[in-house]
Amino acid sequence: MISTAFEYSRATSLDDALAKLGAAKGSGKLIAGGHSLVPLMKLRLSEPKMLIDIGRIPGLSGVSAKDGTIEIRAGTIHHEVATSGLLREACPMVSEAAGQIGDPQVRNRGTLGGSLAHADPAADYPAVMLAVDADIHVKGPGGWRVVKAHDFFQGLFTVDLAADEIIAGVQFKAVKAGGYAKLHQRASHFAIVGVAAALDVSNGVIRSARIGLTGASTHATRLTEVEQALAGKPLSMDTVETAARLAGGSVSDVNSDIHASEAYRRAMIPVFTKRALARALTRTQ
Ligand SMILES: Cc1cc2nc3c(=O)[nH]c(=O)nc-3n(C[C@H](O)[C@H](O)[C@H](O)COP(=O)(O)OP(=O)(O)OC[C@H]3O[C@@H](n4cnc5c(N)ncnc54)[C@H](O)[C@@H]3O)c2cc1C
Repeated sequence: MISTAFEYSRATSLDDALAKLGAAKGSGKLIAGGHSLVPLMKLRLSEPKMLIDIGRIPGLSGVSAKDGTIEIRAGTIHHEVATSGLLREACPMVSEAAGQIGDPQVRNRGTLGGSLAHADPAADYPAVMLAVDADIHVKGPGGWRVVKAHDFFQGLFTVDLAADEIIAGVQFKAVKAGGYAKLHQRASHFAIVGVAAALDVSNGVIRSARIGLTGASTHATRLTEVEQALAGKPLSMDTVETAARLAGGSVSDVNSDIHASEAYRRAMIPVFTKRALARALTRTQ
C-alpha cells in the first residue's frame, strides 16, 4: 500500500517545527528518520496531512558532556550513538545498545528522539534510558519541561508526550559500570528480551542498581526485584547470578507473539539480565 497524500515542510528550528505543528491543528506529524513513521503511513495506520521534517534542524543532533552529565540530542542517529568515542568511554552501555539496533540502514537513519517518541515495546533505547535514569527534555507551545524516563514510558506506543510537543534530547549522569544484552528477533533485530543494567559500585560493594527491561511487555519497565537484591551486596558473579534468577518476577503482563511465547520470554529474562549484569561487572575495574 502507499500512504495517503500529505504536504511536506522542512523545519529550520525547534520553534519553527512547533509553529508548523500548531498550524497543522492536529493533522501534522514530525518526521525524523522515518523508519517507524513511514511504515505506519504505508499501512495507513497513520495518515498525517502535513509532515514536518525535523531531520535537518541545526543543533538537534550530537552527543556532548559537561560536569559528568551526558546529553544526546534527539536527532542523533543510532550510528552516531553507537560509534561515539565519548559514550564508549564514559557510558559504554548506551553505545552498546545503539550498535545492536536494526541494521546499518536503520542505524544511519533512525534517531534517538524518534525511537523514544514511537516507544515500540521492543525498542532498545527505552530500557537503556531507564537504566541511566535519563531526563527527557521536551518543548511544547507552553515552553520546556523535563520528564524522567520512568514516567515517560506509559504503555503500548504510549509516552508522556503531547501531539504538539517535541523531544529535544536526553541528559543523564555517565555510568561506566553498565551493560546491555538482548535476545533479538533475527530479521529486524528488535528485542524479544533486552536488558540494560547500571551499577553504582564503591569499595567492592554494589550501592545501587538500575535495570531496564524491554521487549517483554507493553512498555519498558524496571526490574526492581533485581535492583533490590543487588543493593548493598558484595560485587561478585555470585551476587549477580543470585539476583538475576529473580528477574521478571515483578512483570505481570509478559507478551506472547509469533516471535516468542510468554513462557519463553519469562525464561529468557533472567538469562539476559545475568548477561547484562556480567557486562557491567567487567566495567567496574
Ligand atoms: C527494519 C527495521 C528494524 C528495526 N530494528 C530496531 C531494533 O532492533 N531496535 C530498535 O530499538 N528499533 C528498531 N527499529 C526502529 C528504528 O530504530 C526507528 O528508527 C526508530 O524507532 C524511530 O526513529 P526515527 O527517527 O526513524 O523516527 P520517525 O519514524 O521519523 O518517527 C517516529 C515517531 O516519532 C515521532 N518523532 C520523531 N522524532 C521526534 C521528536 N524529536 N520529538 C517528538 N516526536 C518525534 C514522529 O512524529 C513519529 O510519530 C527498526 C526499524 C526498522 C524499519
